[in-house]
Amino acid sequence: MKTLYKSKWLLPGNRKVIENGGFLVENGVICDIFTAEQLGNIDLSACDTVDFGNATITPGFINTHAHLQYTEIGKKRSKSLVNRLRRLILELRKQLIFKGQNKTFTSWIVDLIIEYMSLSEKERIDSFNSGLRQALSGGTTAIAQLSREEVYFDILNSSPINAYIFFEVYADSEESSEKNFDDFRKKYERLLPKCSKNTFIGISPHAPYNIHRHLWEKIAEYSRQNDVLIHTHFAEAAEEMKWLATGHSDIDKLHKFAMFKHIEPDKKESSAIEYLKTLNLPYNNVILAHVCQLAQEDYKTLGELGVAVAHCPRSNIKLHGRTLNLPAILEHLSGRVGLGTDSLYSNDDLNMLNEARLALNAGVDLLTVLDMLTIDTARILKIDHLTGSIEKGKQADFLVFKPDNNLDYSAFANCEKPDNVFIAGKQLI
Ligand SMILES: [Zn+2]
Repeated sequence: MKTLYKSKWLLPGNRKVIENGGFLVENGVICDIFTAEQLGNIDLSACDTVDFGNATITPGFINTHAHLQYTEIGKKRSKSLVNRLRRLILELRKQLIFKGQNKTFTSWIVDLIIEYMSLSEKERIDSFNSGLRQALSGGTTAIAQLSREEVYFDILNSSPINAYIFFEVYADSEESSEKNFDDFRKKYERLLPKCSKNTFIGISPHAPYNIHRHLWEKIAEYSRQNDVLIHTHFAEAAEEMKWLATGHSDIDKLHKFAMFKHIEPDKKESSAIEYLKTLNLPYNNVILAHVCQLAQEDYKTLGELGVAVAHCPRSNIKLHGRTLNLPAILEHLSGRVGLGTDSLYSNDDLNMLNEARLALNAGVDLLTVLDMLTIDTARILKIDHLTGSIEKGKQADFLVFKPDNNLDYSAFANCEKPDNVFIAGKQLI
């Protein structure tokens, strides 16, 4: 049975606006889309009709950068005595290294590690599931998730959400590069055949200061051969920029805490962009999260390299007091910038509309922001055959907004969250 969904405003993506139109869904897939005029001229009496009336329908949102496992950390303490003891030891270790300097980005990362390591596996999974529920309720129907553990793959792979799981890797030497990359490769090759049609796997080298040169080489080669997407934190923190320029910074304390051997960039005194160029990556497979420390003149080089950017404005402002210049970067990376929430450890919620509002406040027009939330990110993640817009042949992933005053299609952006969320034609909310 086919179902026709209708509403006052239909924003199918790719900057289109349809007034009083609709679309047909069969077996979770969109099989046709109609303007008001076309609807008046065809007989759809054999189909079920769901008329949302004075509402706005958009494609489901795609979160370009998230760590759902950190949703509940810092909010409650583990119940297990062993984990409480572990926390105590880790906190003591931190005190010895940081000596009271607790207001830096490095200290924030170490706190995150302590909080996470002080939870039992069940508590971590509960934290992840809480994030997943929050993301869905905010209209996220596809997510780029960064983590190391296989259990999150299992959860996402059996959940209706479309998921791109980026497995984190690190290395502080040539030997650990070989070992850690091999672990990733085995995991990737073992899990790939298990992926449902809406689960995908990529690799996440955490950030430049945690990746040995040899690991970058292994990742570049594997990505070229297997078309694997690479998602890394880049030019996020002032400490990272200092590390790139001098080989040392507050990041040294993180290395010490994690018992990580000190690594340095091969060539010092070079900018973040120069460093990026020396990595010789297949750049059209690369997503850089944040880049909020780059100068505006670097945006042109990002565009020439062909990378994509995961822009997490609220997390950037909370952690670093600044974010990238969105209109300026879009001049060089049009269609290559997605929005992300990052984790709740550096954000207030996982609601993508709240990131969108910052993009609108930065002066970007609503239809461009909507594409950043949907089809642009689907293209960045190379999942636009499946989702990202309301188009014939794609999965029926869409949101319904019912603003009080819906005279103008833009009113949906003022809603707190969508009233209904559909993935593959199934109503989840
Ligand atoms: Zn992140």
